[in-house]
Amino acid sequence: MPARILVVEDEAALSELLRYNLAAEGHEVSVCADGEEALVMVAEEAPDLVVLDWMLPGISGLEIARRLRARRATRDIPIIMLTARGAEEDRVRGLETGADDYLVKPFSMSELTARIRAVLRRTRPTLAGDVVTFGDIVLDRETRRIRRGEREIHLGPTEYRLLEVLMQRPGRVYAREQLLDRVWGTDVHVEIRTVDVHVGRLRRALNRPGERDPIRTVRSAGYALDETYPERG
Ligand code: CA
Repeated sequence: MPARILVVEDEAALSELLRYNLAAEGHEVSVCADGEEALVMVAEEAPDLVVLDWMLPGISGLEIARRLRARRATRDIPIIMLTARGAEEDRVRGLETGADDYLVKPFSMSELTARIRAVLRRTRPTLAGDVVTFGDIVLDRETRRIRRGEREIHLGPTEYRLLEVLMQRPGRVYAREQLLDRVWGTDVHVEIRTVDVHVGRLRRALNRPGERDPIRTVRSAGYALDETYPERG
């Protein structure tokens, strides 16, 4: 799956290594070394994915991710964050800011290319079309119908919207606040606990006893669709 990838990394040797290896995978690669330039390049080139170093001169990777997520035109561009920090707290911060995945330096090139493939696989198909699928779950935006395998799933409007949001970016961890914004809207006051209540309802509607739960609860972070959920039933 060749893609246009922007690498934002200030360490010249690593930047060159990334450019070389990603190009060898068939990707069209651009590189830049600072945050200001990264924002300009994203606007100009509309990459399919950004590999973003956390520690950069000028604007930090975290701030770039935040700005990309704040704009409609760049909100859905997948981001893989690179960092020397491994602390759980930073990981959660990175994901809350909107990174789709996270690699701690040093990492192997094969690990990075595998992550890129996984991120593209799950973000690309949902960019177009009315029918979104995840494993054996099919959501039809036009008819607002949902099936799991042969079974029709009946959801209330909130659970429907919740599932739709989660299915747009399988694997991505959404903080409860992010789900509140996306499902209920930013101008409605809803308790954070409400998200848990509706995720519970969604799970009960989707899962029969003994069936695998496609939703993953990420401790102290939020919810995601489980990437290891089977392709088919
Ligand atoms: Ca750096």
